Amino acid sequence: MSAEHRYIEFGDYTQHIPPSIPDAVQHATSKFLLNRAARVAEMPQWEQLRQIGSDIRMHTIENLDIYLERLEQAVQAAGGIVHWAATAEDARQIVLQIARDHNVSLAVKAKSMATEEIELNQALEAAGISTVETDLGEYIIQLAGTGPSHILAPAIHLKKEQIAALFHEKLGIDAPADPVELTRIARETLREKFLQAGMGISGGNFVVAETGTLVLVTNEGNGRMCTGMPDLHVAVVGIDKVIPDWDSLTVFLKLLARSATGQKISTYTQFITGPRHTDGEFGPREFHLVLLDNGRSAILKDPVGRQVFKCIRCSACANICPVYGNVGGFAYGWFISGPIGAILAPQMLGTPVARELPYASTLCGSCVDVCPVKVPITGILRHLRRRVAQGDEFAPASMPVPVRTVASVAALGLGWSWLYRLGTRLLPGVMGFFQQDGWIKSAPTPLKRWTDVRPLPAFGAHFRQWWHKHIKDTNQ
Ligand code: SF4
Repeated sequence: MSAEHRYIEFGDYTQHIPPSIPDAVQHATSKFLLNRAARVAEMPQWEQLRQIGSDIRMHTIENLDIYLERLEQAVQAAGGIVHWAATAEDARQIVLQIARDHNVSLAVKAKSMATEEIELNQALEAAGISTVETDLGEYIIQLAGTGPSHILAPAIHLKKEQIAALFHEKLGIDAPADPVELTRIARETLREKFLQAGMGISGGNFVVAETGTLVLVTNEGNGRMCTGMPDLHVAVVGIDKVIPDWDSLTVFLKLLARSATGQKISTYTQFITGPRHTDGEFGPREFHLVLLDNGRSAILKDPVGRQVFKCIRCSACANICPVYGNVGGFAYGWFISGPIGAILAPQMLGTPVARELPYASTLCGSCVDVCPVKVPITGILRHLRRRVAQGDEFAPASMPVPVRTVASVAALGLGWSWLYRLGTRLLPGVMGFFQQDGWIKSAPTPLKRWTDVRPLPAFGAHFRQWWHKHIKDTNQ
């Protein structure tokens, strides 16, 4: 079963990238990282906590069927209704049917990557159901008509001046470029929607199998309003979001906020166990949990690739990634960007679709160092590069024969030191035919594709000379 979501080629995206991306992104991500470092420094047991978190996630992935069944029973025991969605289309139809059964004309939404994944807003709008994002960042990008460019801060690429201009254009309000004032305007506009909405939609950071509890970790009150004010609450979560019990949850709550925004704990942590049980309680009359597969079962068969499901979506890997910091989230072509997007999208969509993403990394490993649950991002990237090059059960071989031939020859040369030395002596001479002023501007196939875009420095024996001069000879 393959996943369904639009993937946009980099070339199509470049025209949508505002020039402010590197500035705005680097400013925000640096702040997250500084805060994270301060919180981690306060916890001498941080490394042990990471290991425990990693072990719990891996154990859950390997026993997902057991925990999902336990979760279903617990949600039902608490009065909730569980739906299983094999595909994105199934999930959309389930939510649409629930909305129709309750004559919903307006839905309010808390921030949710799962509903982004199934493109729920578009489906609801097409069915005539107005859908309003109520997380400030999501509200801004909904007005802008774009997707998120960061897991946590979806409008991270926009400066306050651009947001003020957007409010002016879309809401007809002369808003100053002041974050406090912009937030006030959004809050006032959204408050009415909470009161009018017939359905609240959310995702979930975790679902606890032990009690069937949906956990939402947020920093704005909108999550509570979405899930508590309308009489109907529908939560869409990936099957990978299940955790065994409340003991596990305490570990992840300690890891998540610290890694994400550098807070000790997020401003709001909501625990939702079924609908309200008495009329006096705050909460919906009906609670539906849609458990989304959409390609996850297929990934679970791959012992290397499935480790991606350890992720708790803190975004620390994106915040520290030099590639993400320079190109921003849109360049990844998918709604989850940064290193986690680079290892998730090719697996969800298939390597032939998102074949560039495993290469969108320098493999520096900073992402692995900051990941609170030790997702082996660089290991999975290398695994996916192999899949792109050699093909796998999910995809036919997609690398052209000349490229594979050169890679095989290079592998041979790098495996035998005498062959490598011979090659480095011969190569400068051969490539000398193509060089001009120290640059190779037009190389033969397969390097032609590269030099058509940017020149290569001419091959030389510099490294060998440098090694002899500075290292080898001085050690003798
Ligand atoms: S891979 Fe790790 S660092 Fe990246 S979002 Fe997931 S949990 Fe956070």
